[in-house]
Amino acid sequence: MDFSLSEDEQAYRDKVRQLVDDVDGAQMRAFWAEQHALGGDRMFPWALSAHKVLVEQGLIGLDWPAPWGKGATSSEVFVVAEELVAAGFPSSPVTSSHSLVRGLISHGSPKIVEEQLPKVLAGDLRYAGGLSEPEAGSDLFALRTTAVRHGDEYVVNGSKLWTSYAHEAQYISTLVRTDPESTRHRGLSMLLIPTDAPGMEIKPVWVVGGWRVNQCFFEDVRVPVSNRLGPENEGAAILSAGLSAERSMSFGGTESRLLLARLLHRFAGAADELQDNDLEAIGRFVTKLEVERLLNVAANAKGIRGEEASVAGSMGKVFGSELAQEFAQWLNELLADSLYQREWGAAADDQLAADAEWFVRGTVTVTVAGGTSEIQRNAIAQRGLGLPKGA
Ligand SMILES: Cc1cc2nc3c(=O)[nH]c(=O)nc-3n(C[C@H](O)[C@H](O)[C@H](O)COP(=O)(O)OP(=O)(O)OC[C@H]3O[C@@H](n4cnc5c(N)ncnc54)[C@H](O)[C@@H]3O)c2cc1C
Repeated sequence: MDFSLSEDEQAYRDKVRQLVDDVDGAQMRAFWAEQHALGGDRMFPWALSAHKVLVEQGLIGLDWPAPWGKGATSSEVFVVAEELVAAGFPSSPVTSSHSLVRGLISHGSPKIVEEQLPKVLAGDLRYAGGLSEPEAGSDLFALRTTAVRHGDEYVVNGSKLWTSYAHEAQYISTLVRTDPESTRHRGLSMLLIPTDAPGMEIKPVWVVGGWRVNQCFFEDVRVPVSNRLGPENEGAAILSAGLSAERSMSFGGTESRLLLARLLHRFAGAADELQDNDLEAIGRFVTKLEVERLLNVAANAKGIRGEEASVAGSMGKVFGSELAQEFAQWLNELLADSLYQREWGAAADDQLAADAEWFVRGTVTVTVAGGTSEIQRNAIAQRGLGLPKGA
């Protein structure tokens, strides 16, 4: 298999690199200052000022269908995500949460799409994804939030847990049970619930590392039927199509490659300051990070060819998220002198060490969010190899 980019893709990478190169250091520092000012709330995937710049450069909504998006291939989306992270943009705005928007464009009513999409593009409207519940995480189809139809409204009752960004979003894209007689994946629908609807309450849940996620409570929340995405009771199919479109999202690999590149830059011409075991570790991480990248590229290639790509996506997710944790811990040990001699709360005089410390905290949850490592391994064994479910 040829993993290299095609000529067109390479030209696309050059073009994107030129665009992000135009963002100067002062502007990038302003993005980060805005991101840091959010503190633990900074889990939202991008600083708004960065989003606006990317809108101006035409880099938001790349893979959304026309007329809203540019119909970019998943390779192009992957290239853009890599270039943005490599250029130092806070997180990767082209991938995170944008699958929700793809779902909206494909399955929302024309009225809702026309109302909401221009606001999304302007950075004025955000969505959170509300799937998991207190008793339904890995076993998502055990969910219990109900939406009972009364005329042209649904009345929603229940609760969603771990909802990232709910406190900053205008809508939560939820999976709810619309057929009370149904079980498991049948009888579910996707519903956009406005976060300011009466009866809706959002409470913070602080997870390890200092991030904020949320628990959302719905008590007789009335939602117009027109806020449903796709046909009633067919939410599971819509969700699964949306999730497989996220197949090539890197869970920490891209950020690890950037940190490693910065480390190599620091030691350029001074490699004799490193111990033999550090050099061995660098060789190991360079190799594994390239494997992670190629797993994502392979998942992309399968998707483009129209082949089933979710198993390849699971391989990339489990390998990349566990590797990111391993790399983050090693980097923190390597830079320990700069990290741990600093007084608590003091400004960082070693930015690489400060970013490494931030990263080690951030990577704690990457093996859980988006489906745990165990669930990914089960998917590889069952869907990929056709092995039976365990007892
Ligand atoms: C930081 C963060 C952000 C998140 N953001 C969102 C969000 O925005 N929206 C959203 O809907 N959800 C979100 N989640 C929830 C996430 O998807 C779930 O935490 C995840 O799917 C696991 O579900 P759970 O926490 O209920 O754990 P459980 O499903 O209860 O699992 C507990 C443990 O049992 C293991 N386990 C469970 N079932 C099996 C099995 N069949 N075989 C082997 N092992 C198994 C799991 O791997 C895990 O180790 C987020 C989670 C985190 C940590």
